[in-house]
Amino acid sequence: MKRILLIATGGTIASRPTAAGALAPALTSAELLACVPELADVCRIDAVQLYNLDSTSIGPAQWAGIAAAVRRHYDEYDGFVVTHGTDTMAYTAAALSYMIQRSAKPVVLTGSQKSIYSRDTDARNNLHRAVLYACHPAAWGVQLVFDGKVILGTRARKTRTKSFNAFSSIDYPCTAEFRDLRLVPFLPCPPGYGAAQFYEKLDPAVFVLRLVPGMRADIIPLLAGHCDALILESFGVGGLPGGDEGALFAAVRDWCAAGRLAVFTTQVPHEGSDLGVYEVGRAAKALPGVVEARDMTPEAAAVKLMWALGQARGRDEAARLFLTPVQFDLA
Ligand code: ASP
Repeated sequence: MKRILLIATGGTIASRPTAAGALAPALTSAELLACVPELADVCRIDAVQLYNLDSTSIGPAQWAGIAAAVRRHYDEYDGFVVTHGTDTMAYTAAALSYMIQRSAKPVVLTGSQKSIYSRDTDARNNLHRAVLYACHPAAWGVQLVFDGKVILGTRARKTRTKSFNAFSSIDYPCTAEFRDLRLVPFLPCPPGYGAAQFYEKLDPAVFVLRLVPGMRADIIPLLAGHCDALILESFGVGGLPGGDEGALFAAVRDWCAAGRLAVFTTQVPHEGSDLGVYEVGRAAKALPGVVEARDMTPEAAAVKLMWALGQARGRDEAARLFLTPVQFDLA
């Protein structure tokens, strides 16, 4: 029988109503497991309770804690299942994809839209399938299991706030899907996967600026000193209002001239950026220090930038790491 470690971090799956009537995580990892007794037929499962947080409050410190727990127990277990709130699960899935690379052993995130104690919950199905995936011979890498879909940690996005099919795989096929309890794998474990390569350092000093028509450019110099890299969520395939004559272009040019990175991405949910297509984007694309997120998800782009800045000794190395594909984050 396979050995699986459940790492509980909180979220709606583990929640109960507070005295004031709002939901907050409260259940222990042992209580979660007790709700899915059929897991005992599938594997030997141990559990650790790392946090009990609403995922709104999960960030780089907790990503490092989860990655460290996987690292500490890597040789003892065949796979890992992380229960987590849905709101920032895509960020954590992306973070673990960069912090635990090329792992043939699966690291699987799951959660639910309703508490596991709620009568009409999706939690038991999701936890059951996450463990089934973690035990399956075709499982690999950092994945998110939700509503019968297995989604790459680098491609997952929360696209619905209430429905059970809350997560989508953005611009890339699912790794696998469940038909009832049978797993149908689509993406095999890539060559070169084996014992995981762990990375610890992240630099969270990243700021995401969503452009709005009419936005003033003088916000950009105010960010210097507060962050090491800027992500500009531009329109369509990308560009800056006024092109290379506009104030935003001058602000980005000055930002980069000080040795900082500016990453262009798009507000459009699918198919990514392509900054060289239009006159309004060409000059920005040519600036030293400007790179494009292309078809990375917003979550993957933000977290990969933190990871690249954490590893690199300078801007050029950070840019090179950012543009090097990791677990199919760039097509
Ligand atoms: N606010 C909750 C969380 O992210 C939502 C959920 O888990 O579905 O922890």
